[in-house]
Amino acid sequence: MGRLRSFINFISTLIAFFGLMFVMFVAFVAFQRATHAELIRFGSAVFGMVLLLAAGVIATRHIKKMLERRRPCAHGVRSGKEGGCQNCFKEEQQRRADVEAREAKRVREQETKKRAETLRASELNKLRKMWLSRSETYFEMEPQQFELSLAAGCPSLRSPAPSD
Ligand SMILES: [Zn+2]
Repeated sequence: MGRLRSFINFISTLIAFFGLMFVMFVAFVAFQRATHAELIRFGSAVFGMVLLLAAGVIATRHIKKMLERRRPCAHGVRSGKEGGCQNCFKEEQQRRADVEAREAKRVREQETKKRAETLRASELNKLRKMWLSRSETYFEMEPQQFELSLAAGCPSLRSPAPSD
């Protein structure tokens, strides 16, 4: 079954190939026998067909786009998306405002995070300096500061200073 099919494929390809060769041969002979006027007519016909084809493609695209634009919007207004529908206009405005608000929020959050990060770093730095100067400060710390000090890995907390 598969062998027969591939054989048929092979034969049809062969026929198509020789058919094309034949057509080209006939065209070649016709061109050689053709008069100058006939050749010009043939050339203009081909040129005209190509032109028509191109015009058709462009026109089809244009018409499609136009129809798309004229299609009624969700509120049933023709050309609604082109500014003909108040509701669509409002929705678009709302959508843009939402996007802007979300972006602004994101930027704000990022800034807050960065500021907190900086503050934390400077606070830890301050505490570190304090510990290096005197370890009694632990007893004067607020609980929050003490937690921070643990997070900072204060050297005298991890390994108690040797008593004298
Ligand atoms: Zn609309």
